[in-house]
Amino acid sequence: MTEGQQKSTPQDVLKQAFDAHELVTISFSGAEDVVLIDMACNISEEVNVFSLDTGRLHPETYRFIDQVRNHYGIDIDILSPDADALSAFVKEHGLFNFYQDGHQSCCGIRKVAPLGKHLTHYDAWITGQRQDQSPTRTELPHQQIDIAFSDERRDLMKYNPLSSWSSAQVWQYIRSNNVPYNPLHDQGFMSIGCEPCTRAVGPNEHERVGRWWWEEATKRECGLHIINVEEESQ
Ligand code: SF4
Repeated sequence: MTEGQQKSTPQDVLKQAFDAHELVTISFSGAEDVVLIDMACNISEEVNVFSLDTGRLHPETYRFIDQVRNHYGIDIDILSPDADALSAFVKEHGLFNFYQDGHQSCCGIRKVAPLGKHLTHYDAWITGQRQDQSPTRTELPHQQIDIAFSDERRDLMKYNPLSSWSSAQVWQYIRSNNVPYNPLHDQGFMSIGCEPCTRAVGPNEHERVGRWWWEEATKRECGLHIINVEEESQ
């Protein structure tokens, strides 16, 4: 962690992102993301938020997305996979091939492709990633060029304001500020993704153990943050 990273608060990083870019969007799925939405609504009058609807989320998560939308009075772009591509994929591979073949191809169609298309409209995006979430995130900076989604037109910037926060700090903020959270957290789910690829974890287990548990820990990025894996392997 750099000295600057230690001194900057998440609000500092968010303000830096809003000051530096006209077109910024916040990725929303988990508890960290709602903390960022809460902070952003106190900093900026215009907060763009998107969420990836893979079609495989828990019912609680769908209701939670609408709860956040109503709580903050914001629009949320709900991104869906390309219907034709998904239909062809499911016809060939079925609905649960990720247990045998790994999650990359399913995540590629349901998450990465819609995300890539959406990010072409923005100069920067903001994520709730934290360094202590995964072996793929230990070097995560407050800001970086997202080489996975940059193009010849511009470098896409990616901001990770909570990179040096712990889970305890996130939950302290949630409790202190009455931030809404997914009710699945009260059932032992810590990191929540798609229903077939997420499970509750025990009190002493690491939060990411509940995601893609049949795969190696160093491979557990869904493609949204694939630069973490690429940088890790260099
Ligand atoms: S998390 Fe699982 S169900 Fe969701 S897109 Fe990835 S592989 Fe598919």
